[in-house]
Amino acid sequence: MKLAERIGLVPPSLTLSITAKGKAMRAEGINVSAFSAGEPDFDTPAHIVAAAQQALAEGKTRYGAATGEPVLRQAIAEKLRTENGLAYETENIAVTNGGKQSLYNLIMATIEAGDEVIIPTPYWVSYPEMVRLAGGTPIFLQADPANQYKVTPEQLKAAITPQTKLFVLNSPSNPTGTVYTPAEIRALAEIIVDAGIYVVSDEIYEKILYDGAEHLSIGAIGPEIFERTITSNGFAKAFAMTGWRVGYLAAPTEIIKAVSTIQGHSTSNVCTFAQYGALAALQSPESAGCIATMLDAFTKRRRYICDRVAQIPALSAFEPQGAFYLYINIAKTGLTSLDFCSQLLDQHYVAAIPGIAFGTDDCIRLSYATDIQSIELGMGRLEKFIDQL
Ligand code: PLP
Repeated sequence: MKLAERIGLVPPSLTLSITAKGKAMRAEGINVSAFSAGEPDFDTPAHIVAAAQQALAEGKTRYGAATGEPVLRQAIAEKLRTENGLAYETENIAVTNGGKQSLYNLIMATIEAGDEVIIPTPYWVSYPEMVRLAGGTPIFLQADPANQYKVTPEQLKAAITPQTKLFVLNSPSNPTGTVYTPAEIRALAEIIVDAGIYVVSDEIYEKILYDGAEHLSIGAIGPEIFERTITSNGFAKAFAMTGWRVGYLAAPTEIIKAVSTIQGHSTSNVCTFAQYGALAALQSPESAGCIATMLDAFTKRRRYICDRVAQIPALSAFEPQGAFYLYINIAKTGLTSLDFCSQLLDQHYVAAIPGIAFGTDDCIRLSYATDIQSIELGMGRLEKFIDQL
């Protein structure tokens, strides 16, 4: 059967082969050091699991509204108002199948042929592909490593054309862990408002911050930018709920209505009882302690992995202020990121993601959302690999 043209626009995931290979090696009994996964290694907190179990026992097992259970939409709006200073109401919220679907449905609802979407590089792998699938054009803005991988207001201004519709802001960032300061966010907001474009703020790592770094939701700056902001978030990273598939989009009502139509004809509602787990994540007083425990572990691992990488002269890394990734420059090794990661996995059983997947071939990404013993073992193997080059 002839496939649709749109599928040719999107390359198969570069990271897939490495991830699949790592899994196959593990199935053969090899102790692979897995630095590739973008998910917390913690179990979902027990009170969240219990809430979903209770929902199941109560028969919350039926179809629901496409954009989510009203009680959860209301709780999300409340969270965004009180924690983020964003003036959303229940009607401004769509519960989605993870942060990924919230971004995908937003792009499908708003981007078409002729539209440009500005994406800072390095970027999360799916942003450009979502734009391409919608028929739009991704415009890449290279963020300077010397500026902690942040794009400047001048860079953003220079990239805006009459075709620009949307700017993608991801702070804290995957893959670099960079966090824009409140002053930097304000400066970007000014450009966005002046140009009359929109911004989607992907805030999925907002809870994972280090060294006193501060998260500011761009939509909270003032009414003008709020009208031009779409906020995306989810439960996966903050609450160790990657497999639950619960995220959300917060946006002006007409966008939520459009997203509701798309969801109504595609996936319908997110698993009903999973939404009650998410509700407990937001409302239970136990959640804060669980987040603090995970953050404490991430903080220790981050210190350890940064110190180890700093001792390897061929590598250099920007010290992340958020998320749980280390973006390491490998240029001195002379290898492409794909060759580096393939050899590292084949010869030393360490799974890392090549930077080319995020738009920069001189880097690799290590996730430190894994226990400290595994990090120790993996870093020893990485050192050995570098020594043998
Ligand atoms: N945005 C970023 C930057 C991410 O790293 C991820 C997951 O890796 C997502 C969104 C989507 O997360 P999920 O669909 O699991 O909620």
